[in-house]
Amino acid sequence: LSENEYQAKAVLKQLIAHGYDAYFVGGCVRDTLLNRAVHDYDIATNATPEEIMACFERTVPTGIKHGTVTVLMDRHPYEVTTFRTETEYEDYRRPKEVKYVTSLLEDLRRRDFTMNAMAMDIAGNLIDPFGGRTDLGQGILRCVGTAEERFGEDALRMLRCVRFAANYGLHVEEATWAALRVQAPLLSHIAMERVRAELERLVGGADPHRGIRMLVDSELPNYFRQQLEVPLERWRSAFAERALRELATLEDAAARWVLLLLLLEEDPAHIAAALRKLTFSRAAWSAIVSALELHSSMSESVMHPPAADSAVRSLETTFKLATLAQGKDAATLWLSVIRVLSNAVQGDDDASSGSGSDPNNPFQLESFLRGVSLDMIAFGTEWLDAMTCTNIRELAITGSELIEANGKPGGPWVAILLHRLLQEVALGALPNDKAALLEASSNE
Ligand code: ATP
Ligand code: MG
Repeated sequence: LSENEYQAKAVLKQLIAHGYDAYFVGGCVRDTLLNRAVHDYDIATNATPEEIMACFERTVPTGIKHGTVTVLMDRHPYEVTTFRTETEYEDYRRPKEVKYVTSLLEDLRRRDFTMNAMAMDIAGNLIDPFGGRTDLGQGILRCVGTAEERFGEDALRMLRCVRFAANYGLHVEEATWAALRVQAPLLSHIAMERVRAELERLVGGADPHRGIRMLVDSELPNYFRQQLEVPLERWRSAFAERALRELATLEDAAARWVLLLLLLEEDPAHIAAALRKLTFSRAAWSAIVSALELHSSMSESVMHPPAADSAVRSLETTFKLATLAQGKDAATLWLSVIRVLSNAVQGDDDASSGSGSDPNNPFQLESFLRGVSLDMIAFGTEWLDAMTCTNIRELAITGSELIEANGKPGGPWVAILLHRLLQEVALGALPNDKAALLEASSNE
């Protein structure tokens, strides 16, 4: 028994000791049947929120409007929710009001999929009125009740459908999928925050390749509340198919997004706008966009190498300068994605396999990958490792030292000079050493 399971059972016992009914419900029951790690134990009871709070020493009324109280057991939170139905779904999303009911069955009936509509009592007996266990055993994802109605009540369930099918390797039952295709336009009623949260779980999940394919097949993105205005159909090309197979080998969620977004072969500014509409956090947004910007510089350099320089040297220089512009993290992220993407090209004998994308597109990914050697990737990795100075704060000289040495009042020139010194250090033209930097700056 894990500590969490032990404590969750203690919560159940406490409610039962006070004369209430209490069950494990939803995801934890599903994951237990699948022998998967349970990440949180949700509990349903006929006790009202006030009654739940009276049973425990430490509670937080986290979702009192929906009947949810969080019980703290030794600081670990357990969500306890009063049996309820949802009535009057307003605008195809969250219900306008919840109504407490006395029966577990009623509570299970409002849930989205048969595998999520099971309960377990304290003794481990399964309560499964909608055949969730059989569906799970057969690898089927099915709505509780009439799929068209269920998607019509809460349109977010359609994205949950795609996410669960991908993450659990399930086949969506025919009537459920048909209903999803019919009700897809209702997704426009769902806030972009909730859409993004589902997409993040899909992309970060066990089978992002399948998730993306189902997402495109579902046409749900056509009905996002805000149009992303990026060509998601590029995810269907033969090259994208091979590249998407590599997605799951990337651990980092940001790297998965970068791979997906590079496949769209779009101007980074368009992608950046789409990610804004999806309400990505500032940090996630800038990590992804910086890597895309870096790629854009690299792509430019491969497509149009300057005549004066050797192509290899110019690509290396571009990489160094782009790293200074976008930051070391962006460069590391980009390299990890390009390394994986190069597998998709190598495994391809038919060089000009009609990927269907426009050969004049400056963001064309496949020809970029053919122009970037594994040596370049190795070079970039080594250079990043060896590079001790990627930021003016890491220079062996400070702005005030420059002001003092030059005897001029401070001004914009200080930052400009620091950046020029940084560039020379990073490119290997100058050592990162105070005397050398002072010497170089006195030649101004
Ligand atoms: P996980 O947390 O692993 O994604 P979960 O099943 O716990 O899976 P939650 O979103 O935490 O998913 O929801 C808990 C339970 O609440 C679900 O199992 C399901 O029974 C019910 N549920 C959640 N969202 C909806 C919804 N939009 N419509 C109907 N029932 C829902
Ligand atoms: Mg959950």
